[in-house]
Amino acid sequence: MRCPFCKNANTQVLDSRPVGGGDQVRRRRQCLNPNCEQKRFTTYERPKLKLPDVDKKGQAVLQAFDTEKLIWSIEMALRNRPVSPDTVEEMVQNVCDRARSYAGKSIPSRTLGRWVIDELRERDQIACILYASVFEEITTIEQWRQLLEREANALPESARRKQMDLLSGGEAPDDRSP
Ligand SMILES: [Zn+2]
Repeated sequence: MRCPFCKNANTQVLDSRPVGGGDQVRRRRQCLNPNCEQKRFTTYERPKLKLPDVDKKGQAVLQAFDTEKLIWSIEMALRNRPVSPDTVEEMVQNVCDRARSYAGKSIPSRTLGRWVIDELRERDQIACILYASVFEEITTIEQWRQLLEREANALPESARRKQMDLLSGGEAPDDRSP
């Protein structure tokens, strides 16, 4: 672990404690370079757990689970959408958690894609549909129609209620004051 200020590799751990439900370690470190101006800094370290390989259909070899690629694909799906970087981080974390507890030896890439769709569905339906249309290689109007119908029905209950409220609110003159 290098000092973030002077880049010296020689540092000493002063204090170490688990955070984030125990899967992260917060460490207080001291830089041992006598000329370093900052001397002390904190790191949050997460063990690099091995995630199962990904089985891409039609390819002879398994691919290593690529977290960077996962982040990239989620960010691509959400570009120009009002979703915060914290939300992206949360989604990536959820997908990695599912990968970690996956029972099989390798994860079919289709399964991985579905996990991403699950995450997007809960947060941004438009991004979800756009991602799914690419992932499922949709090419015809009929396939689009089926996708829209499926995703409309798969809307989480809370979101559906919100939409229903909006609809009925617009058509309920009884509620309006005279
Ligand atoms: Zn330093």
